[in-house]
Amino acid sequence: MTTIDKTATVPSARSGDDHVGPLLEVRDLHVEFHTRDGIAKAVNGVNYSVDAGETLAVLGESGSGKSVTAQAIMGILDMPPGKIPQGEILFRGQDMLKMSAEERRGIRGRKIAMIFQDALSSLNPVLTVGYQLGEMFRVHQGLSKKEAKAKAIGLMDQVKIPAAAARVSDYPHQFSGGMRQRIMIAMALALEPDLIIADEPTTASVSSRTWPTRSRSCTRGGSSRRLPSARSTRRPRTRTPRVCWPRSRVWTRRARSSSRSRACRPTCCTSPRVARSTRAARWRRTSAVPTSRRCCR
Ligand code: ADP
Ligand code: MG
Repeated sequence: MTTIDKTATVPSARSGDDHVGPLLEVRDLHVEFHTRDGIAKAVNGVNYSVDAGETLAVLGESGSGKSVTAQAIMGILDMPPGKIPQGEILFRGQDMLKMSAEERRGIRGRKIAMIFQDALSSLNPVLTVGYQLGEMFRVHQGLSKKEAKAKAIGLMDQVKIPAAAARVSDYPHQFSGGMRQRIMIAMALALEPDLIIADEPTTASVSSRTWPTRSRSCTRGGSSRRLPSARSTRRPRTRTPRVCWPRSRVWTRRARSSSRSRACRPTCCTSPRVARSTRAARWRRTSAVPTSRRCCR
């Protein structure tokens, strides 16, 4: 296990409290699952911190524990079979693992929100998306049904769902996978939380246009994002500290302006010579590019 170097600490831009230090700090976190076949150790001593206004990308192979860590932070792990035998999750300096269920409910959604990897199973199939989006405002801000619906339409507009006013009464199955993931993004943005945990938010090919407007305002407003991703090619363009996360250990790397993502970009799609060429010539050139570099966009 390797402890991650901390980034420079900045005071929270929008906290109402006077906590100075990282917004979120995960210290030596262990998560295990007690199954019939024995104990599965899913997370083995993870350390990282996120400051207010910072974006932290977490990379790792499938099954390395990215989602489980995110669920542990949100406090939505199924316990049992899940168990957190060791570690601390500090939000604004307070250990969330020692908080009561009521205190954690107050943080979830309002202070920390999560965009789930699997939007279809995360949305309730028997409730309209407008109802589910509006619920955030009804429960947390006490708005009326009408006001909540208007807010829901505004959020759908914000994540670029076409004809939001007409579609607010549709059910999740009536949306495409990408649109459902946008709705999850809208839900996470609803209460303007201090921290957004995005668990592979581009899995369903959400257009990069969904994020930018919001991410700029997030940064201005002091929100932070933590972006677990199994893929490294769709990273935010900002200078982003990354935690690379293999099964056995954790290490961090400061993202340089991206020699790696340049290397990953398929040459067949970026070369101006190719863009000018005929279809046949393009095929000849792209077929000369190794497959691994052609399909990584
Ligand atoms: P990823 O990094 O792909 O998001 P996960 O965090 O989903 O990986 O899973 C980490 C490990 O924890 C995996 O080996 C997975 O099988 C295991 N795991 C997750 N949830 C459970 C569960 N409810 N019961 C048993 N094992 C689980
Ligand atoms: Mg996952």
